[in-house]
Amino acid sequence: MAQGAPVYAASMADPVDIDVLPSDWREQVLQLAEEKDAVILAHNYQLPEIQDIAHHTGDSLGLSRVAAEVDASTIVFCGVHFMAESAKILSYDKTILIPDERAGCSLAETITADQLRAWKAEHPGAAVVSYVNTTAAVKAETDICCTSSNAVEVVQSIPADQEILFCPDQFLGAHVQRLTGRENMHIWMGECHVHAGINGADLKDRVEAEPDAELFVHPECGCATSALYLVGAGVVPEARTKILSTGGMIAAARETSASTVLVATETGMIHQLEKAAPEVNFEPVNRAAVCKYMKMITPSKLLRSLKTGTDEVTLDRDIADAARQSVERMVAIGTPSATAE
Ligand code: SF4
Repeated sequence: MAQGAPVYAASMADPVDIDVLPSDWREQVLQLAEEKDAVILAHNYQLPEIQDIAHHTGDSLGLSRVAAEVDASTIVFCGVHFMAESAKILSYDKTILIPDERAGCSLAETITADQLRAWKAEHPGAAVVSYVNTTAAVKAETDICCTSSNAVEVVQSIPADQEILFCPDQFLGAHVQRLTGRENMHIWMGECHVHAGINGADLKDRVEAEPDAELFVHPECGCATSALYLVGAGVVPEARTKILSTGGMIAAARETSASTVLVATETGMIHQLEKAAPEVNFEPVNRAAVCKYMKMITPSKLLRSLKTGTDEVTLDRDIADAARQSVERMVAIGTPSATAE
């Protein structure tokens, strides 16, 4: 790589931010991480360069657990802001950095703590179940968090005569309501913008056009909860469909006898799958299923973050403590890690 050559344009979220990377970018990042006692975590939907240099890759819950377990005093979280907040909730005394704090999440932003408080006031006594794609302030107002894999068990753990407020993902809420038959469950109409790239017509057409292909669905992070809902509704044949965790997806990639696998999730996941099984042709159900927020974390911002200690994630201790309780209740119910490792 030539010194000073423009190598990457953060094209969607920040069109004026052209990364100009030093030729020894990789060495600088790793050396700074060592000097600063920092561990770099990268979500599966990050740019390939970021995934490849990270000490750990995974999904949000898996990475939060790594953040809590590692000895390093600083975590550089390459993902979106609510995920870095979750790392702060679970490891409050560590320094948590995110290379660009503007990396939000369209799903998490569909409900604020004030909106949730107002909703609770309309339904006194209701239990609040929130998907992990929420801000720390919303988690602090939540009784139990859930992931896509334990949402059904979390809802079933609540007494049948108690109302439930489920937020913010309408597809996961509808999926859970269908499976539990729960009528006293109110669903917040939030959604992730990426799911529009994985709609029912596309999914059906792609599966029909590739009769020998398998379909992998990874419903973490909101981008593929619509696919989870559609699979449950019988839009695609169950026999060819696998709903998998990150780890399960990589294991299934290594074991599959199919030459083509259709992947219903954000396209960043393809990078890990291709590394695991280079002989298999992995195709996104829709190439437009790209999270622009995830791609705001660029190689130069990672380097800047390590050099300058920005952007630091801070939380009031009260909010972190209240949020931690709702996360710990989630971990105690079912197998939340089934889609999170
Ligand atoms: S893919 Fe969707 S749910 Fe996940 S971070 Fe992006 S906007 Fe949020």
